[in-house]
Amino acid sequence: MRLFDTHAHYDDPKFAAEFPGGAQSAICRSRETGVERIICAGTRPETNASTLKLAEEFDFIYAAVGIHPSDIRLFDPQDDGKLLKETEMLLSHPKVVALGEIGLDYHYDGTDRERQKFFFDSQIDLAAKYSLPVVIHDREAHGDSFDTVRRHPHVKGVFHCFSGSAEMSKQLVRLGYCISFGGTVTFKNAREVKEVAAIVPDDMILIETDAPYLAPSPHRGDINLSAYLPLIVKALAEIRGTTPEHIAEITYENAVRIFKTK
Ligand SMILES: [Zn+2]
Repeated sequence: MRLFDTHAHYDDPKFAAEFPGGAQSAICRSRETGVERIICAGTRPETNASTLKLAEEFDFIYAAVGIHPSDIRLFDPQDDGKLLKETEMLLSHPKVVALGEIGLDYHYDGTDRERQKFFFDSQIDLAAKYSLPVVIHDREAHGDSFDTVRRHPHVKGVFHCFSGSAEMSKQLVRLGYCISFGGTVTFKNAREVKEVAAIVPDDMILIETDAPYLAPSPHRGDINLSAYLPLIVKALAEIRGTTPEHIAEITYENAVRIFKTK
């Protein structure tokens, strides 16, 4: 069974602080478990750089780079143009396979929504310019996220760790967006995400860990790593009435197609 983790953060300092052997050991253990490809996602210039470093070090790691909606508040609004320019400069790197993670996060107060929308829109425009897919973070901002992607019909991509409704997932699939599932699909009380997981078409479904966060059950609360992907695959297979092997294979093929990883 080969596995493709489409979203992780192996540059996160949590690995060095809390995982024996640090990120290197988590990556190697995952590789031994059948995880053949991983996309690491950056969130601001600093993590974009550390993500690219990992992608240069490991041939099976690829990078998504972008400015995350929750990280915008770390920067002076005067530098917004400069931040976008710096991000654009990374897009021709051979290991960059997507613009992300980008999007809207209305969970925490403190980041101006209009400024988030400006970054989201501007980065989708960059994705169009460089013919890259987008990796979208949408937390409690379903309506505005949907409106934004609908305004850019030529750009496609994935809604990572999807938390919207079944109806929204259907409309996103119609727009050409993949729906990605992580640890939440294994949680007992996650009724809505299981409902979505049952209906996404075979050719539009992806899997991810978001490591080191969101570890699947029964590791909930622990450091997450790609080696836990089989638990997500198993949960999806049960929900969809198929085999883990089938889920692993379709999600692998979908990821290779969307991110054009060689
Ligand atoms: Zn993430």
